[in-house]
Amino acid sequence: MLKASSFDIRKIIFDNFNDTDVRFSNDEILGYLNKIDKYKELDDVLDFEDVLLKMEKSGMLRPIAQNFNTRYYRLWNALEPATCKACSSSMYFAPNEEGKACSQCGAKM
Ligand SMILES: [Zn+2]
Repeated sequence: MLKASSFDIRKIIFDNFNDTDVRFSNDEILGYLNKIDKYKELDDVLDFEDVLLKMEKSGMLRPIAQNFNTRYYRLWNALEPATCKACSSSMYFAPNEEGKACSQCGAKM
C-alpha cells in the first residue's frame, strides 16, 4: 500500500479548504490526491489514514463527524506557508501546531 505524503495532503488542504468555516472529508482529499500523477496510476489503495490522524494529534485537523468510512474535518486554524531553513522546501502549517517538521528533510520548523 502506498502512503500519500503529508506534504501533498497539506498542499491540497491549503489550496482548497484553507478556511476554518469549511468542512471537508477524507473522500474529498482522496479525490484531489487521485489527480496527482504519482498517485493517479496506482492500482493499489492509497493509504493516508495515519497521516490524517497525525494531523489531528498535532492540532491541525479537527474531526467533526464520521459516516461509515467518510470522516469530516475542519481546520482549527488556517494553514500558513513556511519555508524550511534546512532544505528550502515550501511547507504548510497551522500556527498552533505542535511538533512541526519539514516533510522533505525532517528538520524542525
Ligand atoms: Zn526541509
